[in-house]
Amino acid sequence: MNLFDVYPLIPVTLVKAHGSLLWDEKGQEYLDLYGGHAVISIGHTHPHYVKRIKDQLDQMGFYSNSIQIPIQQELASKLGELSGLPDYQLFLVNSGAEANENAIKLASFATGKSGFIAFTGSFHGRTSGAVALTDNPKIVAPCNERTDFHILPWNDLDAVEEVLKSNSIAGIIIEGIQGVGGIQVPSPEFLQGLSSLSKKYEAKLILDEVQSGFGRTGKFFAYQWARGVRPDIITMAKGMGNGFPIGGVLIAPEFKASYGLLGTTFGGNHLACAASLGVLEVLEKENLQAKAQELGDKLMKELGAIPGIVEVRGIGLMIGIDLDRDAGPVRSELVNKYHIFTGSAAGKQTIRLLPPLSVEWNELNSFLVALKEILSN
Ligand SMILES: *Cc1c(COP(=O)(O)O)cnc(C)c1O
Repeated sequence: MNLFDVYPLIPVTLVKAHGSLLWDEKGQEYLDLYGGHAVISIGHTHPHYVKRIKDQLDQMGFYSNSIQIPIQQELASKLGELSGLPDYQLFLVNSGAEANENAIKLASFATGKSGFIAFTGSFHGRTSGAVALTDNPKIVAPCNERTDFHILPWNDLDAVEEVLKSNSIAGIIIEGIQGVGGIQVPSPEFLQGLSSLSKKYEAKLILDEVQSGFGRTGKFFAYQWARGVRPDIITMAKGMGNGFPIGGVLIAPEFKASYGLLGTTFGGNHLACAASLGVLEVLEKENLQAKAQELGDKLMKELGAIPGIVEVRGIGLMIGIDLDRDAGPVRSELVNKYHIFTGSAAGKQTIRLLPPLSVEWNELNSFLVALKEILSN
């Protein structure tokens, strides 16, 4: 049987990883400044994380949500503490798309409405509702097309209010910082405006923190950089499991749960909760959130001074670098000659950096040296 060939692959086979380093089958070392799409948050194979998962697997790996699973409450409590949102409620799923899908459903249930607003450059996942709110027609199948879902211009509150006036909008969904769209940071005024407009027109504000959350920007969630924004729903995944599949929906206290409203077979299983608790414990113990902010600030300052770089965007360790040329060949040279992994973005001239939050300055510095060298040619 062949694989369904949908991924354009980097011709590298990795067999081992630790911290921010990766090794191929010939023993060649690589530096990981991409974290496999922002997934590796605390570093590859962190010993505490590995032990957490192994211990849980020895004890028991899975039973469905038809029994009590105390480790779910343990995870919820820790998330409440570290995010500063102890009054929110947690629903556990397996991925980012699934988290957004449930967020959309909740907003629709709560308001009795079916329309949604998303923004230019958005990516919310590939399931039917999430993909219909993603600004990329190539991945939207005819069966996903929704006439009451609106993709509106970024930073245009008037356009949002115009659509909200129809009184058919259940929710507004926006990324804490746009990832796939090329690290676009929403202005605090934009987020604050969406927050008050959503209240005025009884629509729910959904913050998609799948990529930008879990400490990557120096706050637990990126939207927390904007004062006075209180989302109704927050979604997360990627860094939440450091590679173990898990996602979550944080739900404001006003939402009342009822039996059977949402559900999942695998979501919130013992093993996934242990993995995510392992992540949170390391984040806290090693102060990775503050470190991410500090290293990100320093890196962005240095990047801004390199000839050939047109613009640097981002917060903490979520960074977009716009070059004066196509990023593709530069990223290839980074892998082939300097053995450094970086990410691409929607814009052809953009390099996206999403390293593990445990990355060291000397590792980031080796990237600076390599990029300077490449861009000077
Ligand atoms: C990756 C991503 C998703 C989808 O997550 P999956 O786990 O791939 O389903 C949704 N929203 C954002 C912002 C993402 O970056």
